Amino acid sequence: MQRIGEILQEQFGLDEESLTAALEVKQEKGGKTGNILVQQQKITEEQLLEARSLQCGLSVVRELPKEIEPFFVERVPIGYLKKYKMIPVATSEESFVALAEPQFFQQLDDLKRLLDWEGMRVVLAPQNEIFVAINAAYDITSQGAADRVMQDMHEEETPDSIFSAIEETADLLDDTSDAPVIKLVNLVLSQAVRDNASDIHIEPYKDRVKIRKRVDGILYDMYSPPRHVLAKLISRVKIMARMDIAEKRLPQDGRIEIRIADKNVDIRVSTLPTAFGERVVMRLLDKSTAYLPLQALGLAPRDMESFLELIKAPHGIILVTGPTGSGKTTTLYSALGILNSPDVNIITVEDPIEYQMDGVSQMQVNAKIGLTFANGLRTIVRQDPDIILVGEIRDLETAEIAIQAALTGHLVFSTLHTNDAASAVTRLIDMGVEPFLVSSSVNAILAQRLVRQICPDCRESFEPSQEYLAKAGLSLEELGGRLLHRGVGCQACFDTGYRGRIGIFELMILSDELKRFTLTTSDAGQIKNKALEMEGSSMLTLRQDGLNKVLAGQTTLEEVFRVT
Ligand SMILES: [Zn+2]
Repeated sequence: MQRIGEILQEQFGLDEESLTAALEVKQEKGGKTGNILVQQQKITEEQLLEARSLQCGLSVVRELPKEIEPFFVERVPIGYLKKYKMIPVATSEESFVALAEPQFFQQLDDLKRLLDWEGMRVVLAPQNEIFVAINAAYDITSQGAADRVMQDMHEEETPDSIFSAIEETADLLDDTSDAPVIKLVNLVLSQAVRDNASDIHIEPYKDRVKIRKRVDGILYDMYSPPRHVLAKLISRVKIMARMDIAEKRLPQDGRIEIRIADKNVDIRVSTLPTAFGERVVMRLLDKSTAYLPLQALGLAPRDMESFLELIKAPHGIILVTGPTGSGKTTTLYSALGILNSPDVNIITVEDPIEYQMDGVSQMQVNAKIGLTFANGLRTIVRQDPDIILVGEIRDLETAEIAIQAALTGHLVFSTLHTNDAASAVTRLIDMGVEPFLVSSSVNAILAQRLVRQICPDCRESFEPSQEYLAKAGLSLEELGGRLLHRGVGCQACFDTGYRGRIGIFELMILSDELKRFTLTTSDAGQIKNKALEMEGSSMLTLRQDGLNKVLAGQTTLEEVFRVT
C-alpha cells in the first residue's frame, strides 16, 4: 500500500519539509501522519480523506444521511464506534459502513459480523460527520425509550451499580451501564443538554415523580415515573454530585462536572426536603458557551449608546435588576467583555460563576467557609481592582462595601432582585443605605427581562383583531396598518413557535436632577414617573421596549405581558 505521505506529495503538492516535520512528531508522540498534518494545517481534512481514498480504494461520502436507523445501538457499545471512528448507516434507500480511518479493518470485520453485514459496502467519511451521527443514534430521545427504561425500574433493591461514580473524562453518552435508574438519569441529562435547557427539576408528589426541564424560561414536562423510583433517582443524582445520600432531612448543594455529547457541562445540584420527599433542582451551565457580545442582547440603539458610555465611567455603581433567570449576569459579562483588557484589573465575586472570562479574576462565594459576598468584596477591594463585579447585593453589609468602593474610585457592577429600575433605589434605602449615599454612588440602573423570540423557521405575519390589541392597550390606529408576527410551530421549535430569547430593557440613568429627586422620596412610583417625565428623558419602560420589539416582529404581545 502506498504511504499516505507520498500520496499527499504527489496529489496535493505537500512539501518535503512539512512531511519530515510531521514524521518527527509521529516518532515522538505517536499518532497518524495524516492527522498530524491536518493538525498542523499543512493539509485540509478533505485532502486527507481524498488521499486515504486513493490509498485504500474506498469511495468518499462527504455527508452522511441525517436520518440513520439506530438499529445497532442495543448491540454495539457507543464507545466502540467512537474509538474506531465508524458507524453502520442504514436508511430506507441504502446501507453501508462509514469509516474515518481505514486502518481498523479487524474491528470493521467484527462489527460487520456482529450485525450480519458481511459483504456490506464500506466508504470513507469525515470524522466529524461520523461522530455527529454516532451521538445522534445513541441519543435515545424517543418517549418510547424512556418508557422502556421506566418499565424496567421495579421496586426491587437498589442495584450496587448506581453507587458507581461517573468517570471524570468519559462522555455520558458512552456510559453503557444497565441499571435503569442510571439510564434514566443519563437520558434526562442528555436530553436537557440537547434542548439547551437551563434547569432540570425532579419533584415528588403523592403517587408520581415529575421530571421537568426549563427551556427558554418555560418549564416543560419530561417524564412522570412512578413514585417508587424517587429514592433511587435522588440517590443516583446525589452520588453524581458527591452529596451525602443518607442525609434526607436537610437541604444540600453539590455539583456535577460532566461531558455530554462532546460538551462540557457544569451542573449545580440542590436538594430540598418536602412533605413528599426530596426535590432536586439541577442548574445546567454549559461551559462551552461564550458570553454574548453586548450588541446581541437586544438593547435599543439609544439605550445601547447610553449603556456603552455608562460602562466606561471611571467610578460609580451600575446595577442590573430583574428576577432570577432574566439574563442579568449575561448583560454584565457582555459589559465586562468590552472593558476587559490587559491594563485593566477586573475582579468578581459570584455565586455561581456562570461564565469564565480570560484575564478576569473570578471568586466563588462559599458560605461553608465564610466566604460571603460581603467578605469576598472586602478582600477584592484590597486587591487594587479597577472594576468589580459583585454577583448580587443581598444585604446592607454588601451594599455598603460596594458603595464605599464606588466612592473611592472603582467601577462596580452588581445585580438586585427588583421588578423595575426605580425600585432598586427603594430597595437599597429599605436595606438601610442612606439616601445620599445611593444618589452619590449609583450611576444607572438597567432593569431587564428575557422574552422568547419568534421562531424564524415558522414565523408568519397576521392582522391582529381589535380585541387582541385592546389587551395590550393599543389601538388599530397606533399600529398604523402594520402587521404583527407569530410562530405557527414547526419541528425546529418543538411546535412552540419560539426559539431563543432576547432581552427587553428599561435603562434609568441617574442624572443630577434625578439624584436630587431621590433625596426627597424613596417611593419607586414617584421616582419612575420623574425619570420618565423629566425634560429630555428618552427612558423606555420595560413594556414600551417590549412593545417596540413586538412591532419589529421579534416577539409577541403574549411574551411581553408574561414577563412585565
Ligand atoms: Zn418554528
